[in-house]
Amino acid sequence: MRVVVLGAGFGGLELATTLSEALGDDVAVTLIDRNDAFVFGYAKLDVMFGRAPPEEVRLPYRAVAKPGVRFLRETITAIDPETRRVTTDAGVHEADALVVALGADYDLDATPGLAEGGNEFYSVAGATRLRDVLPSFSGGRAIVGVCGAPFKCPPAPSECALLLHDYLVQRGLRGAWKITFVIPFPTPVPPSPDTSAALVEAFAERGIEFVPNRRVSALDPARRVAVLDDGAELPYDLFLGVPKHRAPDVALASGLAEDGYVPVDPRTLETRFPRVYAVGDVATIGVPKAGVFAEGAARVVARTLIAELRGGEPPEPYDGTGSCYIEFGAGRVGRVDVDFFSGPKPTGAFQAPSSALVAQKQHFGSSRRARWFGL
Ligand SMILES: Cc1cc2nc3c(=O)[nH]c(=O)nc-3n(C[C@H](O)[C@H](O)[C@H](O)COP(=O)(O)OP(=O)(O)OC[C@H]3O[C@@H](n4cnc5c(N)ncnc54)[C@H](O)[C@@H]3O)c2cc1C
Repeated sequence: MRVVVLGAGFGGLELATTLSEALGDDVAVTLIDRNDAFVFGYAKLDVMFGRAPPEEVRLPYRAVAKPGVRFLRETITAIDPETRRVTTDAGVHEADALVVALGADYDLDATPGLAEGGNEFYSVAGATRLRDVLPSFSGGRAIVGVCGAPFKCPPAPSECALLLHDYLVQRGLRGAWKITFVIPFPTPVPPSPDTSAALVEAFAERGIEFVPNRRVSALDPARRVAVLDDGAELPYDLFLGVPKHRAPDVALASGLAEDGYVPVDPRTLETRFPRVYAVGDVATIGVPKAGVFAEGAARVVARTLIAELRGGEPPEPYDGTGSCYIEFGAGRVGRVDVDFFSGPKPTGAFQAPSSALVAQKQHFGSSRRARWFGL
């Protein structure tokens, strides 16, 4: 069976690893990514606040050595879901099963003024730039602002606001700054009232102004104001933004996308094209855009393909659950266990910050580093 996996992020890496573990050389997995290394999303916050150098958080794809799997560093330029044929800058790949795991791209131009007058911390390049410019600011008004939903890892901008507070405290500058956090949700983590309450309390304790239910729709760099979606204006000296997201152009052009992302059957992750699946941030599944959900969805697709090849029952449907670790600042980490499918509405059980959770978060990273990269 030829399985072609488009994108080697959380979804693609987990899929290739699960197939290799179960099938070894009985499967031919081609894993394609335009980059030469993977970086955990949360590592961008570490880079931005100088907690880790960018080169330290890169996990090189050349380390991926698994039976049945070959990694190709190529840029995907076209996907034909009817024939399961993929074109890249280096050639054409034919698949018996095709898995689209291309993630979400950032659309800075969708927010006027963001590219010229603001900063984003959602890419390694943006986080590295911020690491370099943050020390040059001595005081003023900082806004952590979300420019559109859905966006990756809903707790990440809350974490950014809390870690910015710590960063300024450590430099003796906190008193010279006002921090405002703008998010287009009524609470920081809507499925979990307890997590949201703990975050809102943490903002209040630190004097961080919380502006819910508002999106940053534009920046006016000349006047240094952020314009919110109700027309209100907030002055800023430093803008740390979560840009609007969109599916990669190649996915949008493939005929797979509707309303900006790739719809799938949430139980099987299959698109409307037979044996073409989509997992993770590129897909509309009914779960947030986060690595843990991409991974869980990838495991269901892998088990489906394993059952096809080995015979046996199809796997349990995708359950829409996942656990996210949340940086609360001061070296403390909390956790939320969310469940999107089993009840009438999503739920999220909160675990208060503790040192045990700091160790769990480290294990989350190191276990995947070992499993996917052998490092
Ligand atoms: C600041 C921040 C903090 C986060 N914290 C967490 C967290 O604590 N826990 C968590 O679970 N998630 C977290 N996330 C979210 C997580 O990183 C993403 O949701 C996750 O990476 C999605 O996995 P994916 O496989 O769908 O896509 P990705 O991991 O984005 O992988 C997609 C891959 O496709 C490749 N690609 C795209 N287009 C092409 C093309 N044309 N040709 C070739 N390759 C292409 C990309 O290079 C990329 O490697 C965080 C994200 C950010 C930004």
